[in-house]
Amino acid sequence: MAKLKNLKILFVTSEVTPFVKTGGLGDVSGALPQTLAELGHEVRLVVPKYGAVDERRFKIHEIVRLKDIPIHLGDEIELFSVRSSFLSGLKTKVQIYFFDNQKFFGSRKGLYQDIKSKKDYSDNDDRYILFCHGIMEMIKKLGWTPDIIHCNDWQSGLIPAYQKTLYADLELIKNTKTVFTIHNLEFQGLFGKETFAKTGLPESVYNDISVNSNGKISFLKAGLVYSDILTTVSEKYAEEIRTIEEIGGSMKPVLQKRKSELFGIVNGIDYSIWDPETDDLIEEKYSAKNLTNKVKNKKALLERFKFNNGTDAPVIGTISRLTEQKGIDLIQEAIDDILKLNVKYVILGQGDKKYEDFFERVQKKYPDKFAISFEFDDALAHLIEAGSDLYLMPSRFEPCGLTQLYSLKYGTVPIVRYTGGLADTVEKISSSNGQGTGFVFKKYESKEMLKEIQRAVKMYKDKDIWTKIMKNGMSKDYSWHASAKKYIELYKKILKDN
Ligand code: ADP
Repeated sequence: MAKLKNLKILFVTSEVTPFVKTGGLGDVSGALPQTLAELGHEVRLVVPKYGAVDERRFKIHEIVRLKDIPIHLGDEIELFSVRSSFLSGLKTKVQIYFFDNQKFFGSRKGLYQDIKSKKDYSDNDDRYILFCHGIMEMIKKLGWTPDIIHCNDWQSGLIPAYQKTLYADLELIKNTKTVFTIHNLEFQGLFGKETFAKTGLPESVYNDISVNSNGKISFLKAGLVYSDILTTVSEKYAEEIRTIEEIGGSMKPVLQKRKSELFGIVNGIDYSIWDPETDDLIEEKYSAKNLTNKVKNKKALLERFKFNNGTDAPVIGTISRLTEQKGIDLIQEAIDDILKLNVKYVILGQGDKKYEDFFERVQKKYPDKFAISFEFDDALAHLIEAGSDLYLMPSRFEPCGLTQLYSLKYGTVPIVRYTGGLADTVEKISSSNGQGTGFVFKKYESKEMLKEIQRAVKMYKDKDIWTKIMKNGMSKDYSWHASAKKYIELYKKILKDN
């Protein structure tokens, strides 16, 4: 059995800040491994080397003995190499392996989709089979025995299946345990049944990971079925995915079956990146003790979007993928009523064309009240967190959500729907005495959302109460430590149980 004091953890992810990121998974993968390392554990990360990874900025070097490793992909043989760099935090350095294959990863700027057409790459199955299968071979070549392989989302879902079947006899990882974290159940890595043959997995696996009458297979389901333990990123979402049809969908039965092995651990935030007291990306640093400087960020934000009539009205901000999940429908329905209020509203987001077109029209209609940027712009995301007064996030479902946590820290009061991680992290302001940290509505209805926005705009006028609400949020501690410790407890539990 593993020595339980200092664990060896291989953290497998498809994106990681600051190398490459499309959303919350990137943030989590940048922060959690470092916190685990700070707590005394040996963590190594592995991520594909996409074309978007800046080779010049990050010193990525070759590992001679991990060059040109062959992998079967159906009848073909593909080669990959492993290169290496470090994820450097304030206190730790975590080794990061880049899974390098020019054809499937290096030659592409997008991670999962072509950036122009916004369509998923048609060979995503090949790409992530190669990644997962390749990692098993990488472990072999390294001769390194991790106690835990921590997989994240569908892109690494096949790894637990490989470990339990094709690689079951590999001495090196015979006692290794797998953890699979669901960051978003919506993305299931679904492919036609012909994909299965390319995995090289034994036939028995096919039944376990097929999901519907067309016999599609799901890489996500492979993770759900074969990993030793399942986690997701908030307690509420852990309950919702196994009990609510619209959220759990076709995965609900397997999650319900594994109820006793499914845990919700809320994400933390990396305060070395997201803290208004130290944030270099914002106009002026501030803290709960010095809130006057927050207004300078508001000014800068208003200028950035060419609004020119003062800072009196509250600014609402949203930073989000523009997809159904994020409740964009509700914003669409209510936009005229929102903009009738004495507010300004700024959005930073990319996503479905129907929403982008819609917001472009809104921008034309309300040029002095509404603005949107369709860029992926990290610096602007920081400025919106710092410069807004309110943060709107009316998600249909939300595994954890990070931007509402950033908002709390930046004194930007969130307006959220009561679902998943939003329900777990934002405390409703129920009366006029300033208790609570945000505005919360339950039903997925634009009227409900609008009521909370109206309530927020009204309360904003009372500066004393408003300052109290801002400070309530800013004083909350969502650092990674508490959550990382929960992961360690789980790792130890599965290692001990066996
Ligand atoms: P998701 O479901 O997309 O993972 P989260 O709230 O968990 O949602 O995390 C989103 C992360 O991506 C945050 O760090 C947010 O600031 C960032 N983000 C989203 N859209 C953009 C954008 N257009 N530009 C810059 N950052 C963005």
